[in-house]
Amino acid sequence: MPIKYELIKTCKQTGARLGRVHTPHGSFETPMFMPVGTLATVKTMAPEELKEMGADIILANTYHLWLRPGEDIVEEAGGLHKFMNWDGSILTDSGGFQVFSLSDLRDIKEEGVHFRNHISGEKLFLSPEKAMQIQNSLGPDIMMAFDECPPYPASHEYMKSSVERTTRWAERCLEAHKRPNEQGLFGIVQGGEYEDLRRQSARDLVSMDFPGYAVGGLSVGEPKDVMNRALEFTTPLLPDHKPRYLMGVGSPDSLIDGALRGIDMFDCVLPTRIARNGTCMTSEGRLVVRNAKYSRDFRPIDEACDCHTCRNYSRAYIRHLIKCNETFGFRLTTYHNLYFLLNLMKQVRQAILDDRLGDFREEFFEQYGFNKPDAKNF
Ligand SMILES: [Zn+2]
Repeated sequence: MPIKYELIKTCKQTGARLGRVHTPHGSFETPMFMPVGTLATVKTMAPEELKEMGADIILANTYHLWLRPGEDIVEEAGGLHKFMNWDGSILTDSGGFQVFSLSDLRDIKEEGVHFRNHISGEKLFLSPEKAMQIQNSLGPDIMMAFDECPPYPASHEYMKSSVERTTRWAERCLEAHKRPNEQGLFGIVQGGEYEDLRRQSARDLVSMDFPGYAVGGLSVGEPKDVMNRALEFTTPLLPDHKPRYLMGVGSPDSLIDGALRGIDMFDCVLPTRIARNGTCMTSEGRLVVRNAKYSRDFRPIDEACDCHTCRNYSRAYIRHLIKCNETFGFRLTTYHNLYFLLNLMKQVRQAILDDRLGDFREEFFEQYGFNKPDAKNF
């Protein structure tokens, strides 16, 4: 098995897991946040900078790399790691989510999904077999099964037929996966907010013995309490000795709440996307550095942060750069936001070690302002 999960400790206060995931490109401690490098680059960041801030695993997107530059070119370069000069671990998604979210013109059939390229309009077809072939060529350490991610809300009837198709697709993925000794394939549990369907999905996928499991179909527009409830009844259905990945979640409160419910891995474009808008995550909540009130503010973005950005640059300078669309400004805010989340996960791991993740949550929410009635979430 190319992917191994080592459970180090369970938090006595909450049941959250502290662990370590081993891949062919090293290991990383969990709970972990994975920065997203859609097109084989975490926008504006050099791989060396990601290493320096403690990112041991990043994510890349199959759909985008399939279209540009094409998986054959990446394969010819020696795989994603060599192509982008990243020697840490890489996870790729299956392309399914982009097909379902980017394309209005799609047709879901048992054999796969017909849709149009969001750039050129050209007709394309993605299936479990195709998603495996592309990911085998890209060569990440962890690849994801091709699934359907239904929107929220979806009826029980629709969700049931979707879950069953996702299970049949998962079987086809396992069969089509050509490099099982070098790349670990994760199954994706679907079922939306429905406990019986999550149970059915988890039971069927766990019987196929994937090296890890994702909880999919959340963070698609449902209220946070719906997501938390779904996690509460889904994570206990997953095996203890395998990693659990919550897809598409990256706001500080949801990372803590996911870890509390037994999740080990997270990814989201949120910290990098909002950074390019001039929005920063700080220990006291959201800070929109574009705002005029920072034009003469010579303090760092977050006075409690010791990242490269906060040690060297002021709010006023970063505001100026971003207002002028200077690339360096985007680099500075991106660096800070990623560092902030990686550091938050480090604090979460320490709190699990100290059996006090519940207390940590209360303290963090209080300081971050999530408990205030006018709290601004992301
Ligand atoms: Zn900082």
